[in-house]
This record gives sequence, C-alpha cells and structure tokens, in this order.
Amino acid sequence: MAVGHEWSGEITREDCERADRGDSMASFRDEFDLPDGLIYLDGNSLGVLPRGAADRCSAVLKDEWGTDLIGSWNKNHWFGLPARIGEKIGRLIGGGDGGCVATDTTSVNLYKVLGAALRLQAEDAPGRRVIVSERENFPTDLYIVSGLIDILDKGYELRLIDGPDDLDGALGADVAVVLLTQVNYRSGALWDMRATTARIHAAGALAVWDLCHSAGALPLSVADSGADFAVGCTYKYLNGGPGSPAFLWVAARHLARAESPLTGWWGHAEPFTMAPEYAPAAGIDRFLVGTQPILSLATMEVGVDLALRVDQEELRRKSLALTSLFIDLVEQRLPGHPLVLITPREEERRGSHVSFRHPEGYAVMKALIAQGVVGDYREPEVLRFGITPLYLRHVDIWDAVEVLRRVLDEELWRSPEFQLRDAVT
Ligand SMILES: *Cc1c(COP(=O)(O)O)cnc(C)c1O
Repeated sequence: MAVGHEWSGEITREDCERADRGDSMASFRDEFDLPDGLIYLDGNSLGVLPRGAADRCSAVLKDEWGTDLIGSWNKNHWFGLPARIGEKIGRLIGGGDGGCVATDTTSVNLYKVLGAALRLQAEDAPGRRVIVSERENFPTDLYIVSGLIDILDKGYELRLIDGPDDLDGALGADVAVVLLTQVNYRSGALWDMRATTARIHAAGALAVWDLCHSAGALPLSVADSGADFAVGCTYKYLNGGPGSPAFLWVAARHLARAESPLTGWWGHAEPFTMAPEYAPAAGIDRFLVGTQPILSLATMEVGVDLALRVDQEELRRKSLALTSLFIDLVEQRLPGHPLVLITPREEERRGSHVSFRHPEGYAVMKALIAQGVVGDYREPEVLRFGITPLYLRHVDIWDAVEVLRRVLDEELWRSPEFQLRDAVT
C-alpha cells in the first residue's frame, strides 16, 4: 500500500523509493506507453495511451473498416458499442440498475440529461423553473444550461452558488434541478455526492452530477448515492484517447419516463423501420442521437477495460498518498515562494489533482513543461497537477517537485519564451 500521507517529518527521495517498492498497484504502470523522461501530471486533462489501444484502433481501422466495411455494423457489433461500453462504465461508476451509454461529448450529454430532468419536473412539479449550479463549475456546464433555458423561454433561470455552504440557501421551492461537478476542475475540491444529493432531494429537486474528474479517479456509487442523472468524460482518468466519447447515466427509477430533447434516429425504438415519426427506444438507448465515432469508441474501450481491473478503494488510497505527498513536499522544500494551495487539505474533500496559485503561474508552467514535467495552467494564475495513480510513482512526485523548486529558485520562468500564450493552455 502507498503510505506517503502517513509520513511525518522530512521526506526523502529514499522514502519515496521505498513506498514505490511496497506499492501493490505498481504493475499498472507497464500497461501504458509512457514517453521516456517525461513526468506526466496532466492525466486529468488527457490521459495517456494504454498499450493495447494502438492495436485495437488499427484492427478496427484495417480489418473492420478496411475489409468488412459496412458489414461491420452487424458482424463486428459496431451498432451495439455505445451500450456495451456504457454497461462497463456503468459498473465502474456503481450505476446499479440504472442505464449507461457511451456516446457523444460531456457537453452534449449534459444538454440531454438536463432537458430530460426539466421535462420530468415540468410534469411532476410545474412551478419549478430554476437550475442551480456552481459559479466555479467548468464553463461548458454553465453554457449548456444557458443555451437550454434560452430555447425553453418559459421563465427558466440559472442560479449560481459559490460552494457547499450556499447550497441550502439556494434550494427554494422554485428549484427543478441542481447540476454539480463532483470534483472541481480547477481546485480539485470534492462534493460529498450522497449527502449533497440527499439535501437536493429533500428540497424537491433532481440531482445531475458531472463526473468528468471523478470517473477512474475515485470510487463511485452513483446509484447508492441517490443521483438522478450523471455524465462524464473518458479521455481524462479513463485514458480513452483525445476526444473519446463521454458517458451518460440515468437512474433506474427514471428510465421509463426520462426523454432526451435530442431525438435522433439512434434513439428511436426501431431505427431501421425509417418511420417518419419519432418513438423513443425503451430504456437508456433513447439517449443516443446519431452515428457514433466508432474508431474513438472502440479505442476508448481499452482504457475502460483497464480501469475495471483496478480496485477502486486501493486506487483512492494511492491517489491520496500521492496528492498529500505533493502538498507536503512543496511545503517542505519550497518555502518562501508565493505558492498558495487552493486544493482542500482535508483528504475527504479532495479529488485526484493538486493546484497552487502563483502570480506567474502561466510562465512557471511553461518552464516546467520545458523541463519535462507536464501539468497545465488554468486561469487565474493556477498551476494544476493531475495525479493518476495508475501510472505515477512516489518518485515521480518527488522529482516533479524538485523541478518546480529549480524553476522557482533559479527563476527559469523569466525566460521570454515562457511568457507567450499558446492557443490551448
Ligand atoms: C473536461 C470537462 C468537460 C469537457 O466537456 P467536453 O464536452 O468533453 O468538451 C465538461 N465538464 C467538466 C466538469 C469537465 O471537467
């Protein structure tokens, strides 16, 4: 077991090596193709390449597309991929009897589940027209709510809160839906899904959870936690590949009634009858829209299969050991620098990344990347370090903090090339 968070006193690199020797998850590192010499702390933005993914992608490309061509929809089960992979992700997130599909993007899936949730509430509690979310939520989540309520044009409104302490005050009798991201993309702060969902339900609202920074990063039991709907992406901690399709989960109790506002032919009860009228498929398939990106979907399954082999409780222990180690090392070895921890110090309030503010955050991150430590930068002034326990070692954390120390002590970030902004940060 990884024990970094139980150390006291000065931590040495030898301590980290010892923790790695005792790490029961260490062998998972060999399941990935990691570039030599790079310490990759950005798996919360784009996960790394699982070893089997290139072969899978190439087989789908050459054999299934190249040879079997259109016959692959049946022969190679392309049509059933969203359901098959969705079922696996459903197991991973503790979806119980709920339905789960792998499809589209998180943004599009949010639109679908929010539309479905508002429609349920319009029937059951028509006076409720408010959607509550967090000001600090990932922007696309808020943009999607705005776009949806604009076309509804029936007095729907978005109400923003600043954190858990504001929630009860915002939960009036007018609230239809609460949309929360379980782990904040910037700070790494973690909502208690079960307790929060109970508060939301007690106020008569439905709970929609965004699990983008949770799936594959910590143990989840969405069904037991009482969630109504959930979405999340697979290219972060699930290592599905750039732009790999997202997932969408609906609680069993809503499956019969919840209807997607995007009524495409893949969500039809009988797509190949080519009927002029829409009739939703039974169950979760009604949340599919159109033809799926088969190459991405099939490649992503490799990362999901890998995640299913991992004991999620053990993953969580190692994640906390590594994030705590990162925080402790920065505080022990980098005193006097203007680094401010914005990630909660309490383990139970933290996801799997660590963020610090630094007034020169952008240039500091570019200098780190130039030195082979890849994290990312988020406005304002935030250095973000994603900690993926599947392939990171304790020594990687030690070495990354050493590079950070050098970048700050020697002011390497002052170099002019690190001041220019790239299009993607
Ligand atoms: C990464 C992320 C997204 C990404 O949405 P896409 O539609 O895949 O671009 C959405 N929400 C949250 C909270 C995220 O962290």
